[in-house]
Amino acid sequence: MKNNVIDIRKDFPILHTSVNGKPLIYFDNGATSQKPQSVIDSFSNYYTTLNANIHRGVHTLSQQATQAYEDARVKIQQYFKAAHSEEIIFTRGTTEAINLVAHSFVKKGDEVIISAAEHHSNIVPWQLAECNLQVVAVNDKGEFDNEDFKKKLSNNTKLVSVTHVSNTLGSINPVKEIIRLAHEKGVKVLLDGAQAVPHMKVDVQDLDCDFYAFSAHKMFGPTGIGALYGKRELLNAMPPYQGGGDMIKSVSFEKTTYNDLPHKFEAGTPAIAEGIAFGAAIDYLNQIDWKWAAQHEHDLLEFGTAEIKKLEGVKIIGEAKEKAGVISFVVEGAHHYDIGTLLDQMGIAIRTGHHCTEPLMKRFNISGTARASFAFYNTKEEVEIFINALARSLKMLR
Ligand code: PLP
Repeated sequence: MKNNVIDIRKDFPILHTSVNGKPLIYFDNGATSQKPQSVIDSFSNYYTTLNANIHRGVHTLSQQATQAYEDARVKIQQYFKAAHSEEIIFTRGTTEAINLVAHSFVKKGDEVIISAAEHHSNIVPWQLAECNLQVVAVNDKGEFDNEDFKKKLSNNTKLVSVTHVSNTLGSINPVKEIIRLAHEKGVKVLLDGAQAVPHMKVDVQDLDCDFYAFSAHKMFGPTGIGALYGKRELLNAMPPYQGGGDMIKSVSFEKTTYNDLPHKFEAGTPAIAEGIAFGAAIDYLNQIDWKWAAQHEHDLLEFGTAEIKKLEGVKIIGEAKEKAGVISFVVEGAHHYDIGTLLDQMGIAIRTGHHCTEPLMKRFNISGTARASFAFYNTKEEVEIFINALARSLKMLR
């Protein structure tokens, strides 16, 4: 089991590079995480030894590539403890996974409950589907308002679709309780897992969620691929999302019959190399001691929060009791964009802006934040350097 940050850092080549002449400190993990060598190697191995289209060739390469791609699906199924491999639908990422549900599970006029802390990708798809959105409030600490949720949840609700962890605030939502309450009323639940998966091991059967959306690139895997987990009986009852090759059993001009799960939802040539590399990321994550990782990230969060609070005029946005390794902040008299630019000059990558959560910015009456988001490969020393660099930046800006 990997539980030593110095050793873990050796697996990530980019962490040993420099930016603007300074050793890279990468605190933009919420946007995308870095990749271990094994994931990088998976690409060159695939294109060097395995490249062929899948699911349709009789030749050896096609069969080997198909096997590797389907093996990745099984790895993901086992990692997320889904009951069946066909419950894992490959998508381009979280965004497409949510769009799939918005296309195939709800219809115009259906009531969908979201929260005020959602990423745009868990707002706009429901608007495109012309659903009736009900928005659960978040309190001043950035916590999901359970009482408001209970008031909004009714027999008219078709779906609850909330984030597991907020990308902007770091709040970990009480998803088990949300699911329990929704199921009591017979309402299905989709969790946006984009920000949960880098920080914790998720068990979809234990959560009992109906859908779970996630992206490989946020869990140390490649861009361009992710997945939707869905309970088999729900996915079976849903119409296809897109039409094309692979998603059919037979086609004529008069009548087309659809393929079985998971292929029914996977039209066209998929991201084959990315799918196989996603499997390599899962192999890597299976070696991580998650108890250690959670404690390590929590220590970084506690330390960073305490230190940042010592800086004059700095306000943290999002102080939920249950929080992942994310520190979003605003500074009196300094624009987040300028802070990010100065830190970049010192080799430190953080995120600035509205983080694709414009309604949440409105809720807190701000235009954006600066955000440092940690992964298990970050160190306390990096947080120290970041805090010192931030203090220097603020001196320059104010
Ligand atoms: N949901 C949340 C909470 C996110 O943070 C993100 C990306 O930052 C997404 C959804 C969208 O993920 P992707 O762009 O990988 O589809």
